[in-house]
Amino acid sequence: MAAERSYKSTPHTRKGATTTFGSRTDIGCLRDHNEDSLIVTPPLFAVADGMGGHAAGEVASEIAVNVLAERAPAHPDPEALGRAVEEANRAIIHAAHEGRGREGMGTTVTAAMLEGERLIVAQVGDSRAYLLHQGKLQQLTRDHSLMADMIEAGQLTPEEARTHPNRSVITRALGSDPHTQPDLYEINVETGDRLLVCSDGLSSMVRDQDIESVLARVRDPQRCASQLVNEAIAAGGHDNVTVIVADVTGFAEVRRKKMARKTKFSIALVLVLFAAIVGATAWGTNEYLHNAAYLVDQDGKVAIYRGVPGNVFGLSYSELVKSTDVAVSDLQPGFQERLKDGWRVDSVEAAEELVKEYQADIDAKAKQDKDGAASGNAANGGASNSAAAAEEGGGADSTGGTHDANPPAPADTQGGAA
Ligand code: CA
Repeated sequence: MAAERSYKSTPHTRKGATTTFGSRTDIGCLRDHNEDSLIVTPPLFAVADGMGGHAAGEVASEIAVNVLAERAPAHPDPEALGRAVEEANRAIIHAAHEGRGREGMGTTVTAAMLEGERLIVAQVGDSRAYLLHQGKLQQLTRDHSLMADMIEAGQLTPEEARTHPNRSVITRALGSDPHTQPDLYEINVETGDRLLVCSDGLSSMVRDQDIESVLARVRDPQRCASQLVNEAIAAGGHDNVTVIVADVTGFAEVRRKKMARKTKFSIALVLVLFAAIVGATAWGTNEYLHNAAYLVDQDGKVAIYRGVPGNVFGLSYSELVKSTDVAVSDLQPGFQERLKDGWRVDSVEAAEELVKEYQADIDAKAKQDKDGAASGNAANGGASNSAAAAEEGGGADSTGGTHDANPPAPADTQGGAA
């Protein structure tokens, strides 16, 4: 018989927007077809238990879940869900008139909508919704059945009803009266609660305390749904059995997910900004490196390099522009010192300008020396030559001292040297 069982259920626990859920339907051990239908499209979870015999009961239950799938509101709204059930009722009646299924076919429907900590149920017939709250099972719906009426009237105990010959007589179903209305329930649920929606193939075969035990014990919703079906089959499987188990994960979970998405987005934004800054910095650094220049002592001569000595932000760029004939030893001591590690300037043009000034300075000095020597050679220049040399030496020293502390612009240097 097992081989003939139909599985229309979710094979694995799935995650909806605000819940995790699992489901399974089974033909049972005695029936030759499965008249139950189910839909698990969070926040909608519905079971329909068709009746009317082969090619009728399953048609009615399938129409019911299909209409619900199309017409149920997007979010829990009892009035709107009620209207969807009424439409399903009219659709079944209409289908029978059109020759789909059979006249008199019908179905129960128990449609739950669970979103965050909000649960609504629309119900016609004897399929049930239960809630496991803090480990205790509560039946949320009231059966539209002869047994429920007799129990309420005090004519039967629930235990007697279980084996009563009229136990499957239902007093309200979709498919007969166009004015049939569902009972509507609105239930406060809490995170950690568990919703069960099932056909009577479960509730008539498995005692409430055993259902409670399985719901409390088997954490995974899909395994739990499957285990409940197994219990019904183990108890005899007299009817088709359909089970949906959905966990209330609540708004806390939704908030957490939204936060997680927001956080991810924020991280993404920060990364983008960081990349932009790094990009801009890299671009800026690159621009700086390729525009900057420096002068350096290279084998005793002043050389001009494009780039910077060493590196900037881990980047280095250095390219020889020209080696000059300017001897470092001809420059004032302060300059010589700066040239050892490279004297940074804004551009190659600025470097070349500086070299020209050095050269002019050196040339002027050489000319002065030459002129001084020429004057000395003109007989009376000995004292004046030494005076000039002493003056120049003092000037050079004092200028050099100033350079060490705060190197003046080339014009000052020239002026000081002059
Ligand atoms: Ca049934």
